[in-house]
Amino acid sequence: MFKLETEEDLLKAFRPRDRPLVERSPEVTFPLFVKHCFTWAHPAGGRVFLLFAVPGGAPTGIAFDTNGGGASVAHLCDWCRVPGLGSRVGLLTTRLNSKKVVGVHVCSDLGCRQRLEDEADRTGRSAVPAIQELIARMGAFASEGLDIDLTGVRR
Ligand SMILES: [Zn+2]
Repeated sequence: MFKLETEEDLLKAFRPRDRPLVERSPEVTFPLFVKHCFTWAHPAGGRVFLLFAVPGGAPTGIAFDTNGGGASVAHLCDWCRVPGLGSRVGLLTTRLNSKKVVGVHVCSDLGCRQRLEDEADRTGRSAVPAIQELIARMGAFASEGLDIDLTGVRR
């Protein structure tokens, strides 16, 4: 669990390249308490935002571009591993730098945590282990795909 007090704290979680893209929606209010992760969509569409922190790590934000609907075939989300049809799981992309775009096949609305909680409710199990794995996969994407320092020291 972490807390962001102000818009400045929120922006600081994002890479400098992502900060101009960040647009709050009405559900993003301060102080913002984040348990595991928090996601929201750009009010105008076309973009989704992710905030999370690995255990002991700093708040980390990523701005993703959504890329329209995919084909109507079942895909498995790379992060929560819940299958979704067509546009429910799609390619989200973000820029590593001016030349390179990095993508990941995940729930297009970044609703992974909710899906894991729903699944846990259905089966009567705790969602916590699955959510911990989800956060670890988000962290791996951020550090390996985007070279983000999850500890926050090297930012
Ligand atoms: Zn997912």
